[in-house]
Order: sequence, then structure tokens, then C-alpha cells
Amino acid sequence: MCGSVSIQFYSPKNITAYSPQKYDCQYCMQRCIDYLSDPLGQISLASCSPFLEEKQGFGQATFLLCPSCQGVVAVGYIGKDFSVGSLNATHLNEVDKVQRNVVVSPKALDRTEKITRWRELWSEILVVVKC
Ligand SMILES: [Zn+2]
Repeated sequence: MCGSVSIQFYSPKNITAYSPQKYDCQYCMQRCIDYLSDPLGQISLASCSPFLEEKQGFGQATFLLCPSCQGVVAVGYIGKDFSVGSLNATHLNEVDKVQRNVVVSPKALDRTEKITRWRELWSEILVVVKC
């Protein structure tokens, strides 16, 4: 990443306790994304310019991309009642300390199952756009 986005992961556990998830969909495989989240943790993203957004699949999840280098920073679900997301762990300074990634198949889940699963697994996400 180019450094124009600031990423914070507030996790209740030590970073070494986490196994990032690799989604076996084409979008994520092509970009070599490892997702990291903790339902009791919080993700905070900050950038001067608005994040770029991309939708995949059913269009429920929003991928947040760096406005400068277009690297995927996180995936999120921005709902009416709650917003959750998962971080692209490859951008963390401490990425070398996490466990081996686990491959999962979110594409096997239907719409409702996905949202339920995200709510169980993902972190509260905060996106701040200001300089
Ligand atoms: Zn960037």
C-alpha cells in the first residue's frame, strides 16, 4: 500500500492468536487478500480522500479501496442498524505475526446466511474521511 490510508485494528487478543481468512472467490484470490476480524474488536480506517468502493456477488458487501493505489483495504457490510467489516491483513505492519490463513467459501452461503455470518465474525468498522 502507498501509505495514504491509515489502518487500525483494535483487537481483544494478541495479533499472534489470529488466523486470517482467505475467501475462495475470484475477486479475493486474484488480489491475494487475507481477511482479519474479531467480533469483539474494532477496525478504524482513515483517509484524506473518500475510499473507492467496489461491489461483488450479490452486491451486499462493499470492498473499500485505497483512493490512491486502489489496493483493497477492507470489506464491509454497511447496514441500517450496524456496520461490520474485515480488514485486509496483508496491509498490517504485524502481518508476519498472524497464523496461517484458513480458506473459506462464502459463495456457498445465501444472502441471509452471509449477513448473519458477517455479524458473527466481522468487527465493528469505522471509516473516517478527513485530513
Ligand atoms: Zn494506497
